[in-house]
Amino acid sequence: MTAYDRDNIFAKILAGTIPSVKLYEDEDTLAFMDVMPQAPGHLLVIPKAGSRNLLDADPAVLAKLLPVVQKLANAAKEAFEADGVYIAQFNEPAAGQTVFHLHFHVIPRHDGLPLKPHAGGMADVELLKAQAEKIRAAL
Ligand code: 5GP
Repeated sequence: MTAYDRDNIFAKILAGTIPSVKLYEDEDTLAFMDVMPQAPGHLLVIPKAGSRNLLDADPAVLAKLLPVVQKLANAAKEAFEADGVYIAQFNEPAAGQTVFHLHFHVIPRHDGLPLKPHAGGMADVELLKAQAEKIRAAL
Protein backbone atom coordinates (compact mmCIF):
# COMPACT_ATOMS: atom_id res chain seq x y z
CA MET A 1 0.00 0.00 0.00
CA THR A 2 1.16 3.58 -0.70
CA ALA A 3 2.70 5.23 2.37
CA TYR A 4 0.83 7.87 4.39
CA ASP A 5 1.51 11.36 2.99
CA ARG A 6 2.07 13.83 5.86
CA ASP A 7 1.25 16.74 3.54
CA ASN A 8 -2.34 15.68 2.84
CA ILE A 9 -5.06 18.29 3.34
CA PHE A 10 -6.48 16.79 6.55
CA ALA A 11 -2.98 16.64 8.11
CA LYS A 12 -2.81 20.38 7.36
CA ILE A 13 -6.20 20.90 9.01
CA LEU A 14 -4.92 18.99 12.07
CA ALA A 15 -1.77 21.11 12.10
CA GLY A 16 -3.90 24.27 11.83
CA THR A 17 -2.19 25.45 8.63
CA ILE A 18 -5.49 25.18 6.70
CA PRO A 19 -8.72 26.48 8.25
CA SER A 20 -11.75 24.30 8.97
CA VAL A 21 -15.11 24.71 10.65
CA LYS A 22 -14.57 22.56 13.74
CA LEU A 23 -17.26 20.67 15.61
CA TYR A 24 -15.52 18.50 18.17
CA GLU A 25 -12.00 17.75 19.30
CA ASP A 26 -10.43 15.45 21.87
CA GLU A 27 -6.96 14.00 22.39
CA ASP A 28 -7.32 11.51 19.53
CA THR A 29 -10.04 12.83 17.23
CA LEU A 30 -11.23 15.87 15.27
CA ALA A 31 -14.61 16.48 13.62
CA PHE A 32 -15.27 19.32 11.18
CA MET A 33 -17.67 20.33 8.41
CA ASP A 34 -17.08 19.00 4.89
CA VAL A 35 -16.46 21.98 2.57
CA MET A 36 -18.32 20.30 -0.30
CA PRO A 37 -21.36 18.93 1.53
CA GLN A 38 -23.58 16.32 -0.10
CA ALA A 39 -26.42 17.40 2.22
CA PRO A 40 -26.79 20.03 4.98
CA GLY A 41 -24.82 18.92 8.04
CA HIS A 42 -22.30 16.75 6.14
CA LEU A 43 -19.32 16.42 8.49
CA LEU A 44 -16.10 14.45 8.69
CA VAL A 45 -14.55 12.63 11.67
CA ILE A 46 -10.80 11.94 11.56
CA PRO A 47 -8.24 10.45 13.93
CA LYS A 48 -5.26 12.61 14.83
CA ALA A 49 -2.99 9.62 14.17
CA GLY A 50 -1.95 9.45 10.54
CA SER A 51 -3.12 6.59 8.37
CA ARG A 52 -3.98 6.61 4.69
CA ASN A 53 -7.38 5.02 5.29
CA LEU A 54 -9.06 2.21 7.25
CA LEU A 55 -6.85 -0.47 5.73
CA ASP A 56 -3.60 0.68 7.37
CA ALA A 57 -5.10 2.17 10.56
CA ASP A 58 -4.08 0.96 14.01
CA PRO A 59 -7.04 -0.98 15.49
CA ALA A 60 -6.54 0.93 18.76
CA VAL A 61 -7.14 4.17 16.83
CA LEU A 62 -10.29 2.74 15.25
CA ALA A 63 -11.59 1.72 18.68
CA LYS A 64 -11.45 5.34 19.82
CA LEU A 65 -12.77 6.77 16.57
CA LEU A 66 -16.09 4.97 16.17
CA PRO A 67 -17.66 6.22 19.43
CA VAL A 68 -16.97 9.77 18.19
CA VAL A 69 -18.58 8.96 14.82
CA GLN A 70 -21.63 7.75 16.77
CA LYS A 71 -21.69 10.89 18.93
CA LEU A 72 -21.52 13.20 15.90
CA ALA A 73 -24.08 11.12 13.95
CA ASN A 74 -26.60 11.48 16.76
CA ALA A 75 -25.90 15.21 17.11
CA ALA A 76 -26.20 15.85 13.35
CA LYS A 77 -29.42 13.80 13.17
CA GLU A 78 -30.94 15.80 15.99
CA ALA A 79 -29.67 19.19 14.75
CA PHE A 80 -31.12 18.70 11.27
CA GLU A 81 -34.20 16.73 12.38
CA ALA A 82 -33.06 14.07 9.92
CA ASP A 83 -34.81 10.77 9.25
CA GLY A 84 -31.52 8.90 9.10
CA VAL A 85 -27.76 9.28 8.90
CA TYR A 86 -25.50 8.02 6.14
CA ILE A 87 -21.98 7.02 7.25
CA ALA A 88 -19.43 6.54 4.46
CA GLN A 89 -15.75 5.70 4.39
CA PHE A 90 -13.74 5.11 1.19
CA ASN A 91 -10.46 3.22 0.78
CA GLU A 92 -8.25 4.04 -2.23
CA PRO A 93 -9.23 5.88 -5.43
CA ALA A 94 -11.03 2.87 -6.87
CA ALA A 95 -13.47 3.16 -3.96
CA GLY A 96 -13.87 6.94 -4.32
CA GLN A 97 -11.24 8.14 -1.82
CA THR A 98 -9.81 11.57 -2.71
CA VAL A 99 -8.14 12.66 0.56
CA PHE A 100 -5.64 10.19 1.95
CA HIS A 101 -6.04 10.56 5.71
CA LEU A 102 -8.61 8.22 7.27
CA HIS A 103 -12.03 9.88 7.60
CA PHE A 104 -15.65 8.95 8.13
CA HIS A 105 -18.36 10.97 6.37
CA VAL A 106 -21.46 11.61 8.51
CA ILE A 107 -24.40 12.86 6.43
CA PRO A 108 -27.90 13.57 7.77
CA ARG A 109 -30.55 12.15 5.38
CA HIS A 110 -34.16 13.11 4.88
CA ASP A 111 -36.77 10.82 3.32
CA GLY A 112 -37.06 11.54 -0.40
CA LEU A 113 -34.16 14.02 -0.58
CA PRO A 114 -31.34 12.83 -2.86
CA LEU A 115 -27.68 13.37 -1.99
CA LYS A 116 -25.68 15.93 -3.98
CA PRO A 117 -22.65 14.52 -5.85
CA HIS A 118 -19.57 13.50 -3.84
CA ALA A 119 -17.02 16.37 -3.68
CA GLY A 120 -19.30 18.65 -5.75
CA GLY A 121 -19.63 22.40 -5.10
CA MET A 122 -18.06 24.38 -2.26
CA ALA A 123 -20.43 25.60 0.47
CA ASP A 124 -20.55 29.15 1.82
CA VAL A 125 -18.34 29.20 4.93
CA GLU A 126 -20.81 31.33 6.91
CA LEU A 127 -23.53 28.75 6.23
CA LEU A 128 -21.19 25.96 7.40
CA LYS A 129 -20.45 27.92 10.59
CA ALA A 130 -24.19 28.34 11.29
CA GLN A 131 -24.79 24.63 10.68
CA ALA A 132 -21.82 23.71 12.90
CA GLU A 133 -23.33 25.81 15.68
CA LYS A 134 -26.52 23.73 15.50
CA ILE A 135 -24.59 20.46 15.59
CA ARG A 136 -22.42 21.59 18.52
CA ALA A 137 -25.56 22.57 20.43
CA ALA A 138 -26.85 19.00 20.02
CA LEU A 139 -23.62 17.37 21.25
P1 5GP B 1 -13.13 11.14 0.20
O1 5GP B 1 -11.63 11.11 0.34
O2 5GP B 1 -13.83 10.22 1.12
O3 5GP B 1 -13.51 10.91 -1.24
O4 5GP B 1 -13.69 12.55 0.53
C1 5GP B 1 -12.94 13.64 0.97
C2 5GP B 1 -13.93 14.68 1.44
O5 5GP B 1 -13.18 15.77 1.92
C3 5GP B 1 -14.86 15.23 0.36
O6 5GP B 1 -16.21 15.07 0.78
C4 5GP B 1 -14.48 16.69 0.23
O7 5GP B 1 -15.59 17.52 0.04
C5 5GP B 1 -13.79 16.96 1.56
N1 5GP B 1 -12.74 17.96 1.50
C6 5GP B 1 -11.76 18.07 0.55
N2 5GP B 1 -10.94 19.08 0.84
C7 5GP B 1 -11.38 19.63 2.00
C8 5GP B 1 -10.93 20.73 2.80
O8 5GP B 1 -9.96 21.40 2.51
N3 5GP B 1 -11.65 21.00 3.94
C9 5GP B 1 -12.74 20.27 4.29
N4 5GP B 1 -13.36 20.63 5.42
N5 5GP B 1 -13.19 19.23 3.55
C10 5GP B 1 -12.52 18.91 2.42
